[in-house]
Amino acid sequence: MVDLKSQYEKIKATVDASIQEVLDTTTYINGPKVHEFQKNLEEYLDVKHVIPCANGTDALQIAMMGLGLKPGDEVITADFTFAATVEVIALLQLTPVLVDVDLVNMNISIDAIKKAITPKTKAIVPVHLFGRAANMEAIMAIAKEHNLYVIEDNAQAIGANCKFSDGTKKKAGTIGHVSSTSFFPSKNLGCYGDGGAIFTNDDALAHTIRGIVNHGMYVRYHHDVVGVNSRLDSIQAAVLNAKLPLLDSYNEARQNAARKYTAAFEGHKNIIAPTICDNCDCHVFHQYTLRIIDADRDALMEHLLAKGIPCAIYYPIPLHSQKAYVDSRYKEEDFPVTNQLVKEVISLPMHTELDDEQIKFITDSVLEFLK
Ligand SMILES: *Cc1c(COP(=O)(O)O)cnc(C)c1O
Repeated sequence: MVDLKSQYEKIKATVDASIQEVLDTTTYINGPKVHEFQKNLEEYLDVKHVIPCANGTDALQIAMMGLGLKPGDEVITADFTFAATVEVIALLQLTPVLVDVDLVNMNISIDAIKKAITPKTKAIVPVHLFGRAANMEAIMAIAKEHNLYVIEDNAQAIGANCKFSDGTKKKAGTIGHVSSTSFFPSKNLGCYGDGGAIFTNDDALAHTIRGIVNHGMYVRYHHDVVGVNSRLDSIQAAVLNAKLPLLDSYNEARQNAARKYTAAFEGHKNIIAPTICDNCDCHVFHQYTLRIIDADRDALMEHLLAKGIPCAIYYPIPLHSQKAYVDSRYKEEDFPVTNQLVKEVISLPMHTELDDEQIKFITDSVLEFLK
């Protein structure tokens, strides 16, 4: 699905030199590389505070701890996402409220959010799924009306833009009260191990979170709140510093590949391909995900795998049907779209190194099966 080897070969000299600096200075934890990366990412995103941490799941959990959410508080999130999103809500003994998604952009449904709000609702967690920015303008308006926090799960959409009706654009992850991201190797900005970060424009919240990631310490050996140990290590920060200047070109390479895929599938009766909106960067294609209608999606997958083409189903089971998250409050009729998507979606290879020949082989193979 991804080709991290070819990508590394092109940037080997800078990445190796950056890692070597860490080895030479032996500042493995909280070294200058981490601070440098934090500053660089703040500038790139145009956000006041980036707080690096150990991974994207921790980032979400710490963001929620920072907001002071309490057991029993209801947190609304999408039924169609990676489990990490709902996992941390449950771990903190908050009450996850899963809601349906939109059929076209596959992100949390605005109507479903409105219907799910109760007096106990405290926060909404939109996920910018597969790299496409959720409708933040509508979500922020609902949050304002009901006095709710918005925590953006931006693990899949770093670099994407959210467009507002007045024509302005802001980077995904800089609009809600706080956001999280992941630098897992296959993410759009990936390191060579685990990594993550929290973003916020709120000075007080940033201060709280900086203590939480470091055992609740604001002054050495004074533990004011219950914290965690969650750090980005210096070697990963070195890799990220080398890769951040390339993020826009990486996202463009993904968009170009997506454009070629979608052109090949245009108008096919069995394929709903993602649309690519020119000059707005609202979709940075962490995944390139098709919907297959009136055809055997699983047989298509077998066909592609047999030809040596990696492909995957993200995600095969809605979260509301997962054993860990079943809840008597959920009714199947509340999730028509997720229940449909899990049967229709298939993700094709998507990364920065796809060439025309590979794309042609992949699209020809899909079309050969669907005729
Ligand atoms: C990858 C991912 C995470 C978790 O990130 P890790 O760094 O693997 O912990 C959370 N949410 C979403 C939507 C993701 O895709």
